[in-house]
Amino acid sequence: MTSVTHTDVLIIGAGPAGLMAANALENQGVDWICLEKRSEPSTLSKALGIQARTLEMFELLNVHKPFLERGYPGPGTKLHLGDTTPSTEELYHIQSRYPYILIIPQSETEEILEEQLIQSGKSINREHNVIEVSQTSEGVHVKADNNGEIHEYSAKYLLACDGSHSKVRESLNVEFEGKDDGFTFFLGDVDVPEFNDIYINVFLNDRGAAAFFPYKDGSYRVVGLDRSKQGQPRQDDLALEDLQESLDTILPEPLQVENPKWLTYFGTAHRQVDTYRKDRIFFVGDAAHIHNPIGGQGMNLGLQDAVNLAWKIDAVLKGHATDSFLNSYHHERYPIGKDVLRETSAMLRIVLLDGTVGKIRNWAGKWALTQNWVQQRVANHMSHVYNDYDKTEQNRSLRDPSLPKKALQAGDRVPDYLLFFDGTTDERLYPFIRRHGHLCLIYIDDAQDEAVIDYAYDFATKVKEKYSGLITVYLVARGGTVSSDPDHELPIIYDVHHDLQKHVGMRNGHTLLIRPDGHVAFHETTTNSENTLAKMKRFFS
Ligand SMILES: Cc1cc2nc3c(=O)[nH]c(=O)nc-3n(C[C@H](O)[C@H](O)[C@H](O)COP(=O)(O)OP(=O)(O)OC[C@H]3O[C@@H](n4cnc5c(N)ncnc54)[C@H](O)[C@@H]3O)c2cc1C
Repeated sequence: MTSVTHTDVLIIGAGPAGLMAANALENQGVDWICLEKRSEPSTLSKALGIQARTLEMFELLNVHKPFLERGYPGPGTKLHLGDTTPSTEELYHIQSRYPYILIIPQSETEEILEEQLIQSGKSINREHNVIEVSQTSEGVHVKADNNGEIHEYSAKYLLACDGSHSKVRESLNVEFEGKDDGFTFFLGDVDVPEFNDIYINVFLNDRGAAAFFPYKDGSYRVVGLDRSKQGQPRQDDLALEDLQESLDTILPEPLQVENPKWLTYFGTAHRQVDTYRKDRIFFVGDAAHIHNPIGGQGMNLGLQDAVNLAWKIDAVLKGHATDSFLNSYHHERYPIGKDVLRETSAMLRIVLLDGTVGKIRNWAGKWALTQNWVQQRVANHMSHVYNDYDKTEQNRSLRDPSLPKKALQAGDRVPDYLLFFDGTTDERLYPFIRRHGHLCLIYIDDAQDEAVIDYAYDFATKVKEKYSGLITVYLVARGGTVSSDPDHELPIIYDVHHDLQKHVGMRNGHTLLIRPDGHVAFHETTTNSENTLAKMKRFFS
């Protein structure tokens, strides 16, 4: 009889999404196994831009430092519309600790994420080609081919991180709705000796598009679309001469490319599954959505999907949340993916405009990029720092209409504020979240306000009873005005910069629960423990 290996969560695929999921689950202390059919990590550079929100998530998982060491902070994009002087889109507007796009090849992203797992004493089960997936109301069951030997696994949940041709999706007969775009893009990792710029340079005109991304070692990713070569039979192999020919066609001034490390043609498609959850199975990354690479968002979406889901599974496995809590993964991540699909389709249509409408695009684009407010909106939007989950039904029901519009509420991203901790040292919010996971802050204006102090102690005691080990409660004082009650252990941090007051809208007696992914769970204004606990229960169901 074949033995079956049991775990809590099976991850299928060790691409960026699977590796991120493994790191996020490991961070929560969840038992997981990751099955990957390849024997070695991929060496392909594919996605090379890490957006600010993803860097924030790396920080929340404490994997950010090697990325910052090995990557290159791209300051923005020079857009050469038509054959005129470029307009510059600056990224320093991004409202994040990481106001840039970090340029690092996908192979290194995968390497860093896998190294982190190895440092935690874990590893990927390589050479495990998943051939069969089934599920019951009790769990999931998987068969994998390990060099001709069939291994069986069972788990409570399964994350399908197995990419655009997902075997899991196929096994469950889940449609990947959408269509191929029908265009062929060229891609080359090459040297461009006569070119030297730290900005991404994009050339867009009636002849096509070509973008140059500078790597840290001085070489470039050149990617684009040659309009004169569309409609030909699909091929993957790109010769250096073909790349040069396309660049000579598109660029206003010739640029020699040489010393290729990777050359390929690739096609694009826009597809998305209509539900990210199928009972005990979740679709993450390219298994859930694919689109063209304009804006460098695909891999980032998958990395953020993984983080959104991991802590939720942990809360369910620990018995603090009901299984239906996991539906919020679809409700929160599906619309974000759908927006990216819509926007990248629209951007492709804009790229393809030519003749008079192309000229109008060039004129309008130049005008827009000279507007500061447009630059700010575009930079923040593309970096995903504007990706809030405030529109889901559950988060809407947790929002308090009496709070001012600017106050952060259920689903909103919390930026990384600076706090004064424990009377000894400054501390930023994100390392705090990293350390505690679910962080609950109770705001106190006035040391003499006994009602709020009583509420805080009563609430913290009840949270400790009901959510033991999951949630940490802190008192947040506006200044150094509160003396802690020696009979209770309620730690204090100080909002000395008034960031929580000014930007989060916290006032005396307010309670803010922050999720491990740096979004608000809820912002409660009453000082009634039962009310706040009821809200907490609703949040976790
Ligand atoms: C040429 C090219 C250029 C790109 N450029 C960009 C870019 O500039 N910016 C951007 O954001 N994105 C870009 N992308 C897309 C980006 O590479 C993907 O979004 C990203 O790889 C998705 O990560 P993932 O983990 O979801 O899936 P994948 O990277 O596809 O990983 C899936 C993993 O699952 C494994 N697997 C599959 N089936 C099985 C099975 N049956 N059993 C076990 N394991 C299995 C695979 O071996 C693989 O390791 C590009 C892609 C290509 C091809």
